[in-house]
Amino acid sequence: MDFGIRGRKAIVCAASKGLGRGTAEALAGEGVDLVLCARGKDVLEATAEVIRRESGVPVTAIACDITTEAGRAAVLAACPAPDILITNAGGPPPGTFNGFELEDWRKAVESNMLTPIALIKAVVVGMQARGFGRIVNITSSSVKNPIASLELSNGARAGLTGAVAALSRQTVRRNVTINNLLPGWHDTDRIRGSMAGRAKAAGVPFEEYIGKAVAQTPAGRMGTIAEFGATAAFLCSAQAGYITGQNILADGGEYPGTL
Ligand code: NAP
Repeated sequence: MDFGIRGRKAIVCAASKGLGRGTAEALAGEGVDLVLCARGKDVLEATAEVIRRESGVPVTAIACDITTEAGRAAVLAACPAPDILITNAGGPPPGTFNGFELEDWRKAVESNMLTPIALIKAVVVGMQARGFGRIVNITSSSVKNPIASLELSNGARAGLTGAVAALSRQTVRRNVTINNLLPGWHDTDRIRGSMAGRAKAAGVPFEEYIGKAVAQTPAGRMGTIAEFGATAAFLCSAQAGYITGQNILADGGEYPGTL
């Protein structure tokens, strides 16, 4: 299936590794020109080079912190009129409700709610004027299924979800869709890092700990960044123009509800 987006321009945030990278690779495979960002320049440049070589699409790498105004300005200067926007940033640290101070909440809201809102606000009017736009927010399964040890993520991402819910029903008339993609466990550095911490605390070797944890999930494995990226790319396709305002779980069946 050809997604009908060859030659379109995309901003993919936080894309040197993990889910952002998987999404960038899938869009590049569909012939989309990319502007990628991440804070670490070397890894970002290396990722951009691999994608250029493998797909042949133009890839611009902007080393910046997307949660800052300066970072967002640099990315938007490199791609002022994107057809596709993938919002993403590092997740907030783990911890429980009573363990966090207000400042922790402010930082999480800034990174995982206000940063996507600022980027959407910067591009959505132009997308509507041009009659095409696809916005995908990478959030978390914690929006639907709260995780007790990730209170900051539960709250800030639910805030973003609410913030775009009405907008996504307005922009669709101009062929601009806004959807949220909710990852469960995917095999990325972030997940392996947090698993390593838990394995150490439990005094269990890492591979044994992760093997047992994954075996208990419905799929019996973690998702791959390629699977995640392909799903995100489909939401950016021409064919997905009738899908908007949705919260799509990519969690291997972990969410226990019927609906
Ligand atoms: P990852 O493998 O650690 O990759 C994170 C990427 O984001 C890296 O490229 C990192 O590069 C970049 N990044 C982080 N903070 C940034 C910032 N402030 N500005 C620009 N780039 C930034 O993480 P991941 O697993 O792909 O997770 C991506 C998002 O999905 C996170 O918010 C995470 O909480 C959420 N999520 C992931 C899963 C999962 O299973 N993996 C599940 C639920 C939710 P630099 O460090 O060089 O900036």
